[in-house]
Amino acid sequence: MATWGYPDGALFYRRLDRRIPMAVGADGSYLIDADGKRYLDAAGGAVVANLGHSLPEIAEAVAAEIRSLGYVNGTQMTCRAAEELAAELARVLPGELRYSYFLASGSEAVEAAVKLARQVQLERGRPGRWKVISRVPSYHGNTLTALSLSGREHYRKVFAPLLTDFPRIPAPDPYRRPDDPRTTGELVEEEILRQGPESVAAFLCEPIVGASAGAVVPPREYYERAAEACRRHGVLLIADEVLTGMGRTGRWFASEHFDLAPDLLVFGKGVNAGAVPLSGLAATPAIVETLAAGSGYFNHAQTYSHHPATCAAGLAVVRHLRRERLVERCAELETAFFAALRPLAEHPWVGDVRGKGFLAGVELVADRATREPWPRERRLAERWTEAAFARGLIVWPNVGHVDGERGDLILLAPPLTASLDELAEIGRLLRRSLEDIS
Ligand code: PLP
Repeated sequence: MATWGYPDGALFYRRLDRRIPMAVGADGSYLIDADGKRYLDAAGGAVVANLGHSLPEIAEAVAAEIRSLGYVNGTQMTCRAAEELAAELARVLPGELRYSYFLASGSEAVEAAVKLARQVQLERGRPGRWKVISRVPSYHGNTLTALSLSGREHYRKVFAPLLTDFPRIPAPDPYRRPDDPRTTGELVEEEILRQGPESVAAFLCEPIVGASAGAVVPPREYYERAAEACRRHGVLLIADEVLTGMGRTGRWFASEHFDLAPDLLVFGKGVNAGAVPLSGLAATPAIVETLAAGSGYFNHAQTYSHHPATCAAGLAVVRHLRRERLVERCAELETAFFAALRPLAEHPWVGDVRGKGFLAGVELVADRATREPWPRERRLAERWTEAAFARGLIVWPNVGHVDGERGDLILLAPPLTASLDELAEIGRLLRRSLEDIS
């Protein structure tokens, strides 16, 4: 098999210790390498390719926008693609969210949301509020503030001296600790009070915890309590829906499963379906009115904010999702997807299969009764992922969710367009590749 890797050529590979095939084409849910081998993409890359790969209508929308406008700076002029995408999103955003601010990556949209929360608190006459409470495990991105807010210890270790020391509380873990206060949401208020409400600007959470914990769905009560605590203490609630947004969990946004009405919501990945870098944040009228009545602007501009070509891609994605009823389809096929994964649960290493819509986490444990994780040296998540890849199945591994070091799981996020046969094939290949390493 032809492979590429360091020190070939001049590309700075993300992994210097292994060789990888080259993708040369795509066909719906499949990627095709230079040898013609087909890979069923059960992770959408990194939970991005929600419409499968290489959708012609996105390509055409982007090309048309580049031909007609190319670049427009959002401080000088607006453009139709950005206006229409914001209007489309306003129809489906949860709660009162209405105004969208477009950026390029999930990390920078998280940072922008944190800056906006701080600016709003300041303009509301609360200058002491700057802290953002987040959770462990969690993942909010790899830029420094997003990483500071993330609970993924192996990503943070090297950069520890560069990180801001934000308060972080344990994330809910219904599998290991169903009745623990961390799962019932009590910890949010406790932490606000511990920090002193007058110092806290926002609480940041992934409503369904994505890659870092493997599709953990907290009980409804968690968010009822968390939202109530935020309201009571003047803390803004930021939902990070970079991974869960745009239909991935069977609703447009995962917040809807909990009737969560955030003040700010961050989106990415699914809004561009992988075609171009597009992300954004959405804010309620109350947030934007604060700035309008105060400084008159959001103190955060980037060259590619409100970019016409990326917004054109987003618009094509949203219209496709709506026209093909893919969000509804995802909810309807959730049962079929989890039925395809059910045989996995018979394997003695599989502790939990969980998730929502087309987002699933499969957790491996050494002991099903005690839920004890495997020792890290066994590298089970990585080995399962490699075995699956050899069989032509792409999945997303994660390690360390149990205690920062131990914990093996894989995340599945097939395209919302995946056929029933493809869902069944994912279940079969997962089972076979787990047997390969058992
Ligand atoms: N937030 C969540 C929940 C994510 O899953 C990710 C990426 O995986 C990010 C933020 C960061 O997004 P990006 O990698 O586009 O910067």
